[in-house]
Amino acid sequence: MSQYQRLRLILGDQLNAEHSWYRQCDQSTLYVIAELHQEASYCQHHIQKLCGFFAAMEHFARALQHAGHNVLHLTLDDTAKDNDLNALLQRLCSDYAVEHLEYQQPDEYRLHQQLKQLSLPDGTQLHCMDTEHFMLPRNEIGEYFTPDKAQKMEFFYRKMRKRFGILMDGANRDKPRGGRWNYDAENRNKLRADELDTIPQPLCFANPIGAVRTRIARHRIPNIGNCGDTLPWPLTRRQALELLDYFCEYLLPNFGRFQDAMTAKSEHRWSLYHSRLAFAMNTKLLSPMRVINAALRAFEQRSDDIDIAQIEGFIRQILGWREFVRGVYWANMPHYGKRNALNAHAALPRWYWDGDTNMRCLQQAIQQSLDHAYAHHIQRLMVTGNFALLAGVHPDAVDSWYLGVYIDALEWVEIPNTRGMSQYADGGLVVSKAYAASGNYMQKISDYCGDCHYRVKEKTGGRSCPLNSLYWHFMLRHRETFARNPRVGMVYKNWDKMADDKQSAVLARAEWCLQNIDTL
Ligand code: FAD
Ligand code: SF4
Repeated sequence: MSQYQRLRLILGDQLNAEHSWYRQCDQSTLYVIAELHQEASYCQHHIQKLCGFFAAMEHFARALQHAGHNVLHLTLDDTAKDNDLNALLQRLCSDYAVEHLEYQQPDEYRLHQQLKQLSLPDGTQLHCMDTEHFMLPRNEIGEYFTPDKAQKMEFFYRKMRKRFGILMDGANRDKPRGGRWNYDAENRNKLRADELDTIPQPLCFANPIGAVRTRIARHRIPNIGNCGDTLPWPLTRRQALELLDYFCEYLLPNFGRFQDAMTAKSEHRWSLYHSRLAFAMNTKLLSPMRVINAALRAFEQRSDDIDIAQIEGFIRQILGWREFVRGVYWANMPHYGKRNALNAHAALPRWYWDGDTNMRCLQQAIQQSLDHAYAHHIQRLMVTGNFALLAGVHPDAVDSWYLGVYIDALEWVEIPNTRGMSQYADGGLVVSKAYAASGNYMQKISDYCGDCHYRVKEKTGGRSCPLNSLYWHFMLRHRETFARNPRVGMVYKNWDKMADDKQSAVLARAEWCLQNIDTL
């Protein structure tokens, strides 16, 4: 007879110490947390992502053991013979002859399906519980989201603000604090040269990862990107809380103001005023409520330093966008992951894998993604995402690059952002217009163009900014789709006013760029 009646599976993105599972130490329960080949190789992950997840899992297992729980932490060595997660669970259920196998609802559809198909030894019952992480419970998503229906994030966000009473007028729970729901228009400053020296340095940890890296190499897990001897990302709840405190203290006062800004000229250009909390939240080391409360507390205590536009900008990302994209994902999977509304079929340019391009904006965003497993939202959306959109890259290729390269990438949040927001492959479920931009946008919001090989003001000729001609090529390829959109229609009037020979030269330059894309 085994001493255990119950096995509880903890997935790598379920490191939530506040889950009700852990309120009591029950000696008849065995927790299982396992490094699996299937998870390490379902796409080519960044080496920092592989190390980050595996090392955070190991820390979590140790913390649970320390708190008195029985934990089986299995490394890649221990699970090498198991074909996949289901084979492992079948083996463990037999070995320990448990009566119950419990798991928390996976946030990724592929794991959700896989666990639903699990067949267990006779006598073992399967139970699924909530992760207790998100603000909107999974079983309420259907009340907020309709499959295949375009929805505005803003309306969802307002409902969530009201529901949770966050940033609402104290006297009137229906009115937003400060009189406005959204301060997005104040979140678009470019960084001036004299503001570059004051960007705080990012808080980076020096987590040793030698053993986990050796394991990854020994098992020949394919990976991308660069990694130092230590990992800068938070691997424990304590480190995640430290990063949150650091954000509230030094970065929140300017978060909204420079949310969209990009620069090549600061040592801290990769982090700027962003929280870098997505990895801690997506592994569930931190709950969104904990993050929101910490930011609100800082705002209440330091209202001379943190104005409403900064705090609202930050809350909108977490209570708004993060919960919204998860709702879209669950309301629309599995077909959402196959949408290709713009019928894009090109390959991803080769320099997405090494950053070797003369386009300074792309070179900066890609190199930093490879070096840090991180880029901020506008770099993901308006630099790498925009180029892939203009070039008509197949959304599968774009998805797998994003899913691999970022430390915080998990399908439930990556797919709606990539396929939906960035590539418009969902036909406009997430955003009401395609985020397509020419070099003009880049020049407005960044200082990349000044030192670029290409000339941002030019649309034609060998040194003209490729984005300028590709932008028009894209807009014309999809004229039928976008011309009726009131937010885009004006663009076509500008094109129609252009002289015929100019139009031809712009399109010829775009064709050249598309045919020689790997050399740009
Ligand atoms: P901050 O800029 O400090 O923002 C605070 C938090 O708000 C983030 O940590 C995140 O939890 C949340 N947030 C902000 N914007 C979004 C958004 N659009 N969707 C969901 N949450 C948001 N985010 C991921 O967590 N994982 C991904 O795989 C991912 N892939 C993306 C792919 C593309 C093409 C785009 C355009 C965006 C993607 N995002 C993804 C959203 C966003 O870019 C990241 O959450 C953010 O850059 C993470 O850095 P940060 O923690 O410093 O965020
Ligand atoms: Fe990018 Fe064009 Fe500016 Fe170069 S000139 S940095 S390619 S937008």
